[in-house]
Formats: sequence, C-alpha cells, structure tokens
Amino acid sequence: MRKKIVAGNWKMNTTVAEGIELAKAVVAKSADVPCDVTLIVGTPFTHLCPVAEALKGSKVELSAENCADKEKGAYTGEVSAAMVASTGASWTILGHSERRQYYGETDEKLVEKTKLALANGLGVIFCVGENLDEREAGKHFDVVTDQTKAVLYNFTAEDMAKVVIAYEPVWAIGTGKTATAEQAEEIHACIRKVVADKFGAQVAEDMTILYGGSCKPSNAKEIFAQPDIDGGLIGGAALKAEDFIAIAMSY
Ligand code: PEP
Repeated sequence: MRKKIVAGNWKMNTTVAEGIELAKAVVAKSADVPCDVTLIVGTPFTHLCPVAEALKGSKVELSAENCADKEKGAYTGEVSAAMVASTGASWTILGHSERRQYYGETDEKLVEKTKLALANGLGVIFCVGENLDEREAGKHFDVVTDQTKAVLYNFTAEDMAKVVIAYEPVWAIGTGKTATAEQAEEIHACIRKVVADKFGAQVAEDMTILYGGSCKPSNAKEIFAQPDIDGGLIGGAALKAEDFIAIAMSY
C-alpha cells in the first residue's frame, strides 16, 4: 500500500541537545497530523540514540541520513547499517545529492549501501534528481531514470516494499526555488513508470514517491495534491517543528 510520508532531513544541523529539543517539539505537535501520514525525522548519526529515546511512544519514526557501503571493520569514521539499526532508527536516507556531489557517492556504492540497509531491516529513502545544467539541457527525465535504474534495478520487487523514492531537483534544494507542482508531477509519474517497467504495475502503484526541494508550509498543499506525489522530504523547513508539522498537515 502506498504510504503518505513527510520526512525531515536535518542534515548537519543542531547540537545533540538542540536535536532532542526539536524532536520533542515534533512529537508534541504530531497528534495534529492525520494518522495516515507517516512522520519521519532524519538526524545526524550522533543524534540517533537520544532522539530515539525522545521519540519513544510517539508516532514519529527515526531515520539516519546515510550509512556505510561496508558491513563492518577497518573503515575509520564510517557508520554501518547495523549500527544505525541498533540505535532504534528504522530508516536511512541514501543517495542524497549532497552525498553524491560532495562525497563521491556513486551508483555502485549506493547499491552496496542499499543492500546493507535492507539486510539490516532499515527502510530506504532513496534520492534522485537532476542539477540545473541537466534540467536546462532537457535531460531531467533521463537523469532520474538512469539514477533510479542504476541502483534500484539491482533489487527485487519484495525489496521495493521497503524503499521510498525521493525526487529532489538539485536546483531546488535549499535555494528557495521550488519545482512547480506540474514539473514535480511529471517526474514522479516518470519514476513510477521506471519502477513499473522492472517490478510491475502493482509495485509501482504501491511505491511512495516524495518530493524534496524548498518544500514549505506555503507550497506543500499544491505539491501534495498531485496524483503521483506521496509526501515530501523536507530540509530547511524540518528544522522548525511548527513548519515541519504544518507541511505534514497539508494533506
Ligand atoms: C533536502 O536537501 O533534502 C531538501 C529537501 O532541502 P530543502 O527543503 O532545504 O530544499
């Protein structure tokens, strides 16, 4: 069954104490959100354990923002999928454009990360999206199609039940520029078709596809009203509990 999801991506923001406070504020307001909307907060690794504690007994789920492409061992500074799962997190974001752009995240690495996340029981919020040059060159459909195929086509239809796709046009992330509802919808429909081509119509119908890129309380309603848009991955606006909740209430 396709889910409605509003997920926050805190990125490299907040100290642990600030993160706990933010998580508690989200929990306090979460009762206002329709019960068919899943709320997820994505936090830095350092925050996962204390935020898991702050979320206990609430409907808010917890995500990491990344995990390692190796199972365990001599990989200084890395955090494995098993470690993420052991904190109480049930999700990880993978393939965010900032990881692809600044940390050399390749499709090959993302296949390994996705394998390990799924093997450790984590749901995966898998990000795709074109940059400005690619959009201006009219390559946006090809870019998201290739990114989706290169990683997700290595998995099974059963695996897809634990995967959510987030379409995040890079030119809209943190820029204040949002894709129009029509621009977002046509890419979401394209991604759904890419999923259908490999895994069948039912898997595609059940796939949750989120929009991300300067989503805020003032534009969420129009974006979420599109037939192939099932919620949002929220960056900047997730750092304010009232904005994050207002976005989740836009359904
Ligand atoms: C993101 O980076 O996942 C994101 C959607 O950021 P913002 O909402 O700040 O554009």
